[in-house]
Amino acid sequence: MIAFGPVPSRRLGRSLGINNIPPKICTYACVYCQLGRTIKMQMERQPFYEPEEILRDVREKVEKAKEAREPIDYLTFVPDGEPTLDINLGREIELLRSLGITGLWTLPITFPQAKKNSLEGHSGDSQLVSSYLKAFGKSKVQGIKIAVITNSSLMWREDVREALMKADWVSLKMDSVQEETWRKVNRPYGTLRLDSILDGALQFASKFKGELATETMLVRGVNDGDDHIKDLAGFLARLEPAVAYLAIPTRPPAERWVQSPAEEVINRAYQIFSGTVDRVEYLVGYEGNAFAFTGDVEEDLLSITAVHPMREDAVDEFLARAGADWTAVYQLVAQDRLVEAEYEGHRFYLRRLGGHKDRG
Ligand code: SF4
Repeated sequence: MIAFGPVPSRRLGRSLGINNIPPKICTYACVYCQLGRTIKMQMERQPFYEPEEILRDVREKVEKAKEAREPIDYLTFVPDGEPTLDINLGREIELLRSLGITGLWTLPITFPQAKKNSLEGHSGDSQLVSSYLKAFGKSKVQGIKIAVITNSSLMWREDVREALMKADWVSLKMDSVQEETWRKVNRPYGTLRLDSILDGALQFASKFKGELATETMLVRGVNDGDDHIKDLAGFLARLEPAVAYLAIPTRPPAERWVQSPAEEVINRAYQIFSGTVDRVEYLVGYEGNAFAFTGDVEEDLLSITAVHPMREDAVDEFLARAGADWTAVYQLVAQDRLVEAEYEGHRFYLRRLGGHKDRG
């Protein structure tokens, strides 16, 4: 099956996934890969499926979602391998564009969910949509967007950069900017070179008109040291992504020795990244309704801290707004669902992320 979903995605709202690569053909063999060991490593681009076949499959899924009144925010290339190995990626993005102008549309992610459910998925001429457009203005309505999540390994290639330019949202994997660490964590195909990948990423970022994101997976004892994080943050400052995601292994990794860093370390990485990138968020596989006020103080604290660490004064403010005291926080800490961490003289609260108990 080439298209799957739509599935809820923390980054992209509701995303219809596109699997444009057969299982686990990749340029990397990351130690934390949740798909297991790479079956076939390669760096040559090639065709895998006919672009028209991908279009057909995606169109079918989009139609079904429409019938079920399930809106879609993004069509996302997120295969079980590296999507830019597909030599037809650019053509496929162009073909998929035709789906976005056939009356399918979506509301901004920030729009209230209940209202979204009642409005989205209609074709452009429904009465409901007309009244919505009148009330909120046409600019609030957008076509389905196209996203690509790449490991960045082929960014040195002009044809890959050109293909990605056609997307609306691109996420670049940035686990390391140090050669040795990069080799350790991503275990790249032999002839790939980190300096030309980073150079290609910078060239792409300077021209890309869509939204650029980066994703960094932190592995304990491999790429979570302060010096390493600072180097990476320095590079991200040049790349200027709209958002930098920090992730940790939350699903069974390819190598059993792989562990997520302690919460203190993740918090430190968050703070260091925040010094150079405007928006930094955790990406820990938790798809809860972050930042929605549910009226349940515990739930809200867990949702928020799954995305950002909260400084003590921010928690104080939040509790005051909710008309609550610190009891819920103490309980969550006692239950080991919330963790306290110190950084540069401040106390932070984080959701227990890695599932391990030690704080080492
Ligand atoms: S880039 Fe790494 S994590 Fe992604 S599919 Fe390839 S080996 Fe797995």
